[in-house]
Amino acid sequence: MEVPRPAELQLVADEAATCVRCRLAETRTQVVFGVGDPDADLLFVGEGPGAEEDRLGEPFVGRSGKLLDQLVLEEMGLTRDQFHIANVVKCRPPDNRDPQPDEIAACNPWLERQLELIQPKVVVTLGNFAMRTLLQTRDGITKVRGSTYPFRGGLLIPTFHPAAILRGGAQQLAQMRADLVRAKQAIAAATAAVDVEVPAEVAPAPTDATLFD
Ligand code: SF4
Repeated sequence: MEVPRPAELQLVADEAATCVRCRLAETRTQVVFGVGDPDADLLFVGEGPGAEEDRLGEPFVGRSGKLLDQLVLEEMGLTRDQFHIANVVKCRPPDNRDPQPDEIAACNPWLERQLELIQPKVVVTLGNFAMRTLLQTRDGITKVRGSTYPFRGGLLIPTFHPAAILRGGAQQLAQMRADLVRAKQAIAAATAAVDVEVPAEVAPAPTDATLFD
């Protein structure tokens, strides 16, 4: 009998909970796999868990997460139970350092399973690491954001990491708000199946660790 996708996502999360594929397993408190609606139209992909996320086992629960929740509610009218959130690495890098290329590559199969099972209409990447991982580019977020990209039968919209908004100024905040409005419109258009030219299939590219060198 076929396992329903939400149940299969939970099975994958249970499997990931004991993952030791990279060195981040040595210092984490727990694997932070993802949270939210397993059938969501919208998937946010961030960088990796911070201290609060590592402690509580849920992505984006610190200051960045609160800002993300606020902006998504204000610009998209969605609450956390109506979308899904994951990260490119599921374990906290020590001292909140950047995830290393080999760690991102080791963790990528978990993100791939999330994408396969959730099948979001729209993926919004938060910051450089998620954007580079999924778009397979070396370009930075400032250059790439502002556009919508075909992504595996759906769409991908890159925006800033909310931590950058907390550090940055009003211009970045306004741009992130605009990106979220674009995501809302993309979901509505994809749901209505009008005026969005989406390739029949965009083959997933293997993660290239050299993108982060
Ligand atoms: S970061 Fe990913 S690959 Fe590394 S131990 Fe955690 S779950 Fe496994």
